[in-house]
Amino acid sequence: MTMAAAAFKSEGRPADITSRLKEEVRVPPEPSPTPAGDARVPWTRRLHSALMPDYNRQATVYWWSVVVAGAAVIVASVAMLAREPGPIWLQIAVGMAIAMLAGVFPVRVPQSKNSFAAGEIFIFLLLLMHGPAAATLAAVGEVGVGAYRTSKRWTSRIFSPAMAALAMGGSGTLLHAALGRLAAHGIDNVGSTVLAMMVFSLAYFVGSTLLVTAVPRLKRNERPQLSDLFGVFGWVGVAYAGSACVATLLYSTYRQTGFGVLMAMVPLLAMMLATLHYFFRQQEAAEAVRRAGSEASEREAELAARHVRELEASERRFHSAFTHASIGMALLAFEGHILQANPALCDLLGLPADALVGRRFQEVVIDEDRRGLEEQLGLVSAHEFEGFALELRCRHRSGEPVWVAAHCSFFSEPGASSPCLILQVQDITARRRAEDSLHHIAFHDALTELPNRRRFQEYLSQAVQRAMQDPSDAFAVMFIDFDRFKLINDSLGHSAGDQFLVQVSQRLRESLREHDIVARLGGDEFAVLMLRLGHAQDAVALADRMMVAMRRPFLVAGNEVTTSASIGITFSALGYTNPDDVLRDADTAMYKAKGAGKARYAVFDASLHTEVANRLRLEGDLRRAIDEGHLSVAYQPVCDLATGMISGFEALVRWRHPKDGAISPMDFLPIAEEAGLMLRLTDFVLHCACRQLSEWQRLGPAYAGLTMNVNVSGHDIAHPALVARVTRAIIESGLQARHLCIELTENILMSRLEGALPMLGELRRLGVQLAIDDFGTGYSSLSHLSTLPIDCLKIDRSFVSRLERGANEAAVVRSIALLGSALGKTVVAEGIETAAQLEQLREMGCRLGQGFLLARPAPAEELTKRLGAYLVSPPLPPHRGSTAASAQPLQ
Ligand code: C2E
Ligand code: CA
Ligand code: CA
Repeated sequence: MTMAAAAFKSEGRPADITSRLKEEVRVPPEPSPTPAGDARVPWTRRLHSALMPDYNRQATVYWWSVVVAGAAVIVASVAMLAREPGPIWLQIAVGMAIAMLAGVFPVRVPQSKNSFAAGEIFIFLLLLMHGPAAATLAAVGEVGVGAYRTSKRWTSRIFSPAMAALAMGGSGTLLHAALGRLAAHGIDNVGSTVLAMMVFSLAYFVGSTLLVTAVPRLKRNERPQLSDLFGVFGWVGVAYAGSACVATLLYSTYRQTGFGVLMAMVPLLAMMLATLHYFFRQQEAAEAVRRAGSEASEREAELAARHVRELEASERRFHSAFTHASIGMALLAFEGHILQANPALCDLLGLPADALVGRRFQEVVIDEDRRGLEEQLGLVSAHEFEGFALELRCRHRSGEPVWVAAHCSFFSEPGASSPCLILQVQDITARRRAEDSLHHIAFHDALTELPNRRRFQEYLSQAVQRAMQDPSDAFAVMFIDFDRFKLINDSLGHSAGDQFLVQVSQRLRESLREHDIVARLGGDEFAVLMLRLGHAQDAVALADRMMVAMRRPFLVAGNEVTTSASIGITFSALGYTNPDDVLRDADTAMYKAKGAGKARYAVFDASLHTEVANRLRLEGDLRRAIDEGHLSVAYQPVCDLATGMISGFEALVRWRHPKDGAISPMDFLPIAEEAGLMLRLTDFVLHCACRQLSEWQRLGPAYAGLTMNVNVSGHDIAHPALVARVTRAIIESGLQARHLCIELTENILMSRLEGALPMLGELRRLGVQLAIDDFGTGYSSLSHLSTLPIDCLKIDRSFVSRLERGANEAAVVRSIALLGSALGKTVVAEGIETAAQLEQLREMGCRLGQGFLLARPAPAEELTKRLGAYLVSPPLPPHRGSTAASAQPLQ
């Protein structure tokens, strides 16, 4: 009933139709034949092109006709009502106002573009109460408001009210004529009025609809169609009929009860419309949610379908990528079984796919790398990692290892029930080879191919770490220094030095145990790291093996070269925490070995630190002593054993340390040698000795035959300028060369014979004499002795001191004396301390001798004082008839 009471209206009502027509024709607009602002164009044309550019001629004519006719109807209606009294006018005004108000607030029907308003009811009511003129004005007002609200085009806003005036004016007049006729026939009841109103409302609907739909038809040059009445607007007609019923019922109630009931209807209708409005909005909201829901599920379904399509596409892409990939790929089960292998992987391993599928991938990985791979696979299976990357070596069918970068991660194949692993392996053999060779260069010594200092330190720091964690994981470190490397390098040249080092490193390597590492730290310094050391004795045994190996002569650049190694050893048992400390201590121990007479090993102990510090201090002091001329020379007479007369002297260097007092040459000479001070020391002694001898010779003719022996070191004979230095000393002192004798120890001479020979020849040509010192302690062969440019052999003190022990010892000295005289060399016996030794030596035919028994080394001034007396009365009794007890030593 309430629904029926409401008059339905549509957004598609006439006022809106024009606005929609306008929307339809906006593109493309009818071309304007002349510019709108052109003054020659009549104003009507200009107005036309500004307001209705889309209207053709017939539509324009039609529009104007309707507008003019409508305006006429409005004017006529106003004129008709002008005679009505004030209260009637008030009723008309109220009815119009309500109709217009209702037009402002239409109720939109859900799911349609239509809305309805209560306005028609009041218009129809006015029609019944006050005739077509009043209804026309109300309809114009209501439609005008609606058109204004829904359209922006003035063509619509003007046309719609005009159309309403025509339709209402026409149909309303017809209704009144009909009602008049019915009343004249005495038919004036509610039923007949309702029927007449329904017919009228249909006429009104048809009229207004035809008037409206004619506009777009005419614009398109079409004829108006009857179907326009039904189509979208059809049901608006039904709504009009409903409104007509309600209006008739209200009218009959008004006739019975008066105007008040109509006024009461207004708020009731307003409430009903508000309720409907609210109800529809609710419905609309629910509908929106439902639609949104169904749209969402539609979207979901579409998404799912798309997903499946994408999955299928990605599966195809994956399989194509898998098959054609240039890197090896495989699908693996979690324990590593190969489920599928691509051709690149087959190529990489040199195996067909069916030889791989079913096997565990670990089986093609080489043993050393397999454990790491197993671990990673385990972690991935336990879901601890999503995947991993590893570099490992696989085994090619040929047996060659292939370095690969392996990348493994979870993989779930579209459609597959259980996930597996995807493995990608890239051949990086070339890169690893390049890296390895770079690594080798960085960590190895180019000459010997042994690990270098850097590498050694790495090994060592790992060993230190392990020993810190587990002291039973013990190690030893040896520092090895070759006692004559510098000489070899200086005398035979660097390439010979290099050859020597290569051979040395080879021999060291051969001496090692399985887990030992030997490295070249630089120069002639080598180090050995003994890992997994069971017993300290193993280290000592290795040191012995190495020393034995070093003692065998080396053949270097055609020369036979002998060397010896000094080895310092330290052990992890000392509790090292730092690799540098280990090397430092092994180095210290090596110096101790050197200091103790070379060719031996020494084990580090803490007292060595002070020894080393002391040694460093002495080195500095010695350097200063040489710079400041604080060294001195003592002279030991060399006597004729037969007459006891002095034949000459041996110059012996002396150093009185300001704090430590006199230091033996045996202690400071090795320091001078290590510190490179030897040449300056020799020069000092050489000049002092030559000057001193020349001074003594000038004392008188009896002194003129005295000679001077000067010791030179290995460094000196390796130095090419020795001849020049000797020549300068002779010239400066004014000495005759034949009075100078250069002493070389047998060891020095033999170890660098080849290099030294030319120089010895030159010295000889100069007239200088040459002596082999400490004869019998080296390895001179007889063949060498006969050809060497040597004048004199000095029998080492050790033989002389053993003379009294027995016949065997004496036999050695005797044979040396015999050999010397056989080869035409002067033989000098050293270290004669007792008269018995003197006697034996005399008997053996030894011509000259030195020793504390005859004279101790003494400063020059002291000797100068006593020299004349010795020459006049020899310190020794004459050979025959004298007794050892009566001999007077020169001291
Ligand atoms: P050397 O050339 O064999 O010199 C002889 C050494 O024996 C000297 O020791 C001398 O004092 C010592 N001596 C002499 N007679 C006796 C004796 O009857 N009994 C004992 N026990 N010893 C005796 P010094 O002066 O201590 O020199 C030791 C070594 O130092 C020398 O042995 C020599 O090899 C070296 N030396 C000394 N001065 C020089 C020098 O100016 N230049 C070089 N290159 N070496 C030197
Ligand atoms: Ca000597
Ligand atoms: Ca000697």
